[in-house]
Amino acid sequence: MSRTIHIVGAGLAGLSAALKLSGRGEIVVVHEATAFAGGRCRSYADAAIGMTIDNGNHLLLSGNRAALDYLRDIGAADRLIGPAEAEFHFVELAGGERWTLRMNDGRVPWWVFDSRRRVPGTHAFDYAALARLLWPPAGKTVGEVMSCQGPVYRRLVEPLLLAALNIDPPAGAAKLASAVIRQTLAAGGRACRPLVARDGLSATLIAPALDALRRRGGTLRLEHQLRAIRFASERVEALDFGSDTVALGADDAAILAVPPYAAASLIRGLEVPTEFRAIVNAHFKIDPPPGQPPILGVIGGTVEWIFAFPGRLSVTISAGDRLIDTPREELARTIWTEVAQVTGLPADLPTGLPPWQIVRERRATFAATPAQDLKRPDAATAWRNLVLAGDWTNTGLPATIEGAIRSGNRAADLIAGRPKPSHERYRSRPTY
Ligand SMILES: Cc1cc2nc3c(=O)[nH]c(=O)nc-3n(C[C@H](O)[C@H](O)[C@H](O)COP(=O)(O)OP(=O)(O)OC[C@H]3O[C@@H](n4cnc5c(N)ncnc54)[C@H](O)[C@@H]3O)c2cc1C
Repeated sequence: MSRTIHIVGAGLAGLSAALKLSGRGEIVVVHEATAFAGGRCRSYADAAIGMTIDNGNHLLLSGNRAALDYLRDIGAADRLIGPAEAEFHFVELAGGERWTLRMNDGRVPWWVFDSRRRVPGTHAFDYAALARLLWPPAGKTVGEVMSCQGPVYRRLVEPLLLAALNIDPPAGAAKLASAVIRQTLAAGGRACRPLVARDGLSATLIAPALDALRRRGGTLRLEHQLRAIRFASERVEALDFGSDTVALGADDAAILAVPPYAAASLIRGLEVPTEFRAIVNAHFKIDPPPGQPPILGVIGGTVEWIFAFPGRLSVTISAGDRLIDTPREELARTIWTEVAQVTGLPADLPTGLPPWQIVRERRATFAATPAQDLKRPDAATAWRNLVLAGDWTNTGLPATIEGAIRSGNRAADLIAGRPKPSHERYRSRPTY
């Protein structure tokens, strides 16, 4: 008799697990609490600016192997766009100095020896400080491992780590920063081309995944929130959705791909990250001026990154907890003033600000501190037919699309490796 794999949570972790398993011929049912798939990576029609926008600008890099494999699998790899080479445009808010960081393709970083490619005001030997992050001692913060001062830090390391870890970098786990540096700057320009979803997150990462899942016979049940898990001694025997209960047969299995606070409420005693950091996005309905780079890093402002889309400029501010309680109009005005300053657009339009929207995701990611990183559980659980997935599980990476997809792949591998019921428990640690 064939078995069914129940996947709870239709974020990228749950969807990647569902795609892997349905691709191997398994019967898959995905249960999602809300009315839409995508979780923290989604688009929606916004009434305030009359456009479909993303909950937040998401940046991928060409070295995000699992994410690119996922996109190829669902036939959407061409929906990511980016420059042919690894180049990052920056502007200093005070004074307006501009530069473009241009990494060479290979692993040997000769770009640091070229003053036209590296950060202005730096010397090649300044970059040697980054080596400290490659093999950091366990349990240390970035601030304990390297100096968080000087132009290389301020104009390169800080914006990179702030975006990747979503925490003030000196407080971030050096282990996670190390994973980022190894997979970006140390991997060479070939791994660092910045990529964005041309037509939005849902059209790129979610809708094609749902189509592929449907073609493979998988089922998606929206507005089907898991309320409780019924455990037997070694296995999960039922999933309780409130209005209905799904009994798990002897061969059936479940993947819990929900956020950490939801997982902890469903599994008593599960240790999970408990602190979070916000991400703030501001969207302005206005045509980007001619020559505006697709992604522009802003140094020394409230604004950190400006993304240019057709008919819209969007701003990302990581570790944005300090802005959570700022009145929306005040925040929109502050952000627009900086955007106007660096783009040359008028600070005051005849209508005031362009139509705008602010999206504040309070629990955008877990707080990437050493203490919170230690709380991340492995995918395997004490129950032989229950596996965890999510960007907050022990992937070795910060909370990112790449981490979420790797966690889903890992959960699928664990399930697939156990086609028959067994009295063994999962013991292996993930090898991401
Ligand atoms: C504003 C913002 C900007 C970001 N920028 C980037 C970026 O630039 N680059 C990058 O790589 N990453 C970025 N990220 C991180 C990235 O979005 C996440 O790492 C990824 O989407 C997490 O996927 P997930 O599947 O692990 O979790 P989630 O997306 O949280 O999915 C969990 C799903 O479980 C569902 N659920 C919860 N409880 C239940 C229940 N009881 N029953 C059923 N379903 C349930 C939820 O509704 C949700 O759909 C950003 C995140 C945010 C919020």
